[in-house]
Amino acid sequence: MNYFEYRNDQLFAEDVALTELADRVGTPFFVYSARTLRRHFRVFDEAFAGTDHLICYAMKALSNLSILRLFSAMGSGFDIVSVGELQRCLRAGADPRMIVFSGVGKADEEIAAALEAGILMINVESRPEMHRISEVSGRMRRRAPVSLRVNPDLDPGTHPHISTGHRDSKFGVPLAQVREYYAEARGLENLEVVGLSTHIGSQITETGPFSEAALKVKGIVTDLRAVGIALKYLDIGGGLGIPYQENPPPPSEYASAILSPIRGLGLKIISEPGRVLVGNAGVLVTRVRYLKETDVKRFVVVDGAMNDLIRPVLYDAYHAIARVDRRKVGNLIVADVVGPVCESGDFFAREREMPEPAAGDLLAVMSAGAYGFVMSSNYNSRPRAPEILVDGATAHVIRERENFEDLIRGERIVELKAE
Ligand SMILES: *Cc1c(COP(=O)(O)O)cnc(C)c1O
Repeated sequence: MNYFEYRNDQLFAEDVALTELADRVGTPFFVYSARTLRRHFRVFDEAFAGTDHLICYAMKALSNLSILRLFSAMGSGFDIVSVGELQRCLRAGADPRMIVFSGVGKADEEIAAALEAGILMINVESRPEMHRISEVSGRMRRRAPVSLRVNPDLDPGTHPHISTGHRDSKFGVPLAQVREYYAEARGLENLEVVGLSTHIGSQITETGPFSEAALKVKGIVTDLRAVGIALKYLDIGGGLGIPYQENPPPPSEYASAILSPIRGLGLKIISEPGRVLVGNAGVLVTRVRYLKETDVKRFVVVDGAMNDLIRPVLYDAYHAIARVDRRKVGNLIVADVVGPVCESGDFFAREREMPEPAAGDLLAVMSAGAYGFVMSSNYNSRPRAPEILVDGATAHVIRERENFEDLIRGERIVELKAE
């Protein structure tokens, strides 16, 4: 469900016509719908109603300050994976006591910054990291609230690059050793063991892996209790998929799949949704530059590229591509939609059936809100696209298009002899 809809065959973001927005800000650009963001948060939050819970939006999916501000206003906390993300949260006015810190490679300075800010907890991913956090907090004369991230060793059936809960993955501590880890953590006086966390992957489109993970962590929590380790928080991670092409369960089914095995444990549930909150709340609008035909193929060459949205080549991801103005009837063609970057991996769609566009037409790459702008780069010296947040009839530019000076910021020309 989202608020990108056609009115008289023209695609709107809420009450803003994308054609007009394109004339105003140029292309390509990302546009997000505030109404969709609010709705997604509310629906997700309501799925956990009746359970003591905290939603910590996994901000790596889309981390613009205005987006963080909006989530914060709705009562969301944040799951962060770097000090940069911490600083973004703080800049956006988030409550540090609603922040959890995940990730396998935290630096001393990042740990210190998180403790200094007073975040809710740090999710520990390995034994050396556990000791490192203890050392850093000792130096600061504090006790660091930590949870151990458990790798439940299961296959969530998604693309390997977004699967994190298998024993081969770099994430979490092995299931078989979790109990030892807890015993060890308890012995470290600068740690306060407050929780257990897990996150099995992303774009998961069935409930089975979630309930399986929930069952496994329930076993651990119960065992820990038996040896006198009482936790406060159970962090169930994120990972619920969105309908790019698949048909994932709604948040209500997802929540009950997770909650039914762990109900009665009496822990506060922390949930870290990323994609499901923002994925369908954003699109990437791009303009067709050329139609190119070879002996064997047709290409629609657009002004957006893999540096703007890398998901198609990185994850074999499918994104629906919609015409912004569909008043013209085009013949159906089969084409690759490609950008100007000098890589064969620079495509938004391959062998896609679509009404034949003309040069100058606008296309909307749908469901580009999550892992879209945040993964964009300056490859091929392309300035990053602007981000627009629509709320009703108002379109706010929440990040400007980069210019040449942005591209070379920090660079220096050193004069070297030519030989
Ligand atoms: C990326 C990530 C999430 C969010 O994943 P989504 O699939 O976007 O919901 C949650 N928790 C952790 C630890 C993550 O790394």
